[in-house]
Amino acid sequence: MAHKYDLLIIGGGPVGLFAAYFAGMRNADVAIVESLPQLGGQVAALFPEKNIYDVGGIPGIKAKDLIKNQVTQLQAFSPKIFLETSVKDIEETPDGDYLVQTNHDPITARAIIIAIGNGAFAPRRLAFDYDPQLDHNGTVDYFISDLEACRGKKIAIAGGGDSAVDYALALEPIAAQVTIIHRRDQFRGLESSVTKMQNSSVNIKTPFLLNSLAQADDQLAVTLKRVKTNDLETLLVDKLIVNYGFTADSRILRQWGLDLKGVKVKVNTRMETNRPKIYAIGDAVDYEGKLDLIATGYGEAPIAVTTALQAVYPDKIRPAHSTSLFN
Ligand SMILES: Cc1cc2nc3c(=O)[nH]c(=O)nc-3n(C[C@H](O)[C@H](O)[C@H](O)COP(=O)(O)OP(=O)(O)OC[C@H]3O[C@@H](n4cnc5c(N)ncnc54)[C@H](O)[C@@H]3O)c2cc1C
Repeated sequence: MAHKYDLLIIGGGPVGLFAAYFAGMRNADVAIVESLPQLGGQVAALFPEKNIYDVGGIPGIKAKDLIKNQVTQLQAFSPKIFLETSVKDIEETPDGDYLVQTNHDPITARAIIIAIGNGAFAPRRLAFDYDPQLDHNGTVDYFISDLEACRGKKIAIAGGGDSAVDYALALEPIAAQVTIIHRRDQFRGLESSVTKMQNSSVNIKTPFLLNSLAQADDQLAVTLKRVKTNDLETLLVDKLIVNYGFTADSRILRQWGLDLKGVKVKVNTRMETNRPKIYAIGDAVDYEGKLDLIATGYGEAPIAVTTALQAVYPDKIRPAHSTSLFN
């Protein structure tokens, strides 16, 4: 007979990881299912080199280090982790548990926590066609996984949001030159970061749109078009980082019989969905006042785990503080 987990967490982003850790502290038998080959969700896949400043008790941490710490933390309980496994469907069994269909073997669990963030995500690409070889050889990149690869190079960053500004600041002391290109004069980053960038050696090109890309010997010729005047100018760089945000696809949620608000799962203050013993947390949910932040998801995880375990084991006592659990 297939193993039946107390709790199956769908999504191995920061919020799913913390839910698994908290469930481990409650002695629950937990599994995580993650469709990517790595844990860490958006944080590890989309902005590993960005600094995160808004998690309590941590003055500032590189995104990839936050995930590394979460994985280390999780090792205290060694939950079962299914990587490269995507949940396709959630079927209720006659005894009120769940059979979860995936692209591999089905998984059985007494309760489920959905932590799928915005679903499958992909970077928003440049609006014009260019030689695909530039992607393949890393001359054009949609996110940075290794800052060191930019050391001593001329880097252009296209984008005007928070992470474009953060990338510019992180690369400025490492790269030979950093240019940021944005279609507006105003950046959408944190005011303090924007001011820091304006006072740095970062070359700011606004208001400009990217017009075309071409290989120029061993460099990349980035042609820019000034907004309104349409004047063209060309920049020679070693690498272009495009940071136009991401598109996400959470259409799979519509097949799981959940009450949705747009593409988010509706939950109450106990993180309950409309389906019994199915809870949802993190960026995947919506409720009044919801903020899509790691810290918010970290708060929702213990609520969902506690509610789930009360439903699965009604006689189980409420959570104690972590110190009493570890002593
Ligand atoms: C550029 C950028 C910068 C950000 N900066 C900050 C910041 O500084 N501070 C902050 O607090 N927040 C920040 N955020 C927001 C933060 O990343 C999210 O709030 C956080 O990642 C939400 O975590 P999560 O675990 O709910 O979802 P996610 O991180 O999205 O993880 C969900 C996981 O579920 C998996 N999944 C999806 N569908 C399935 C399926 N069907 N089966 C199995 N697995 C599935 C996905 O592959 C993914 O790994 C930023 C976001 C972006 C895009």
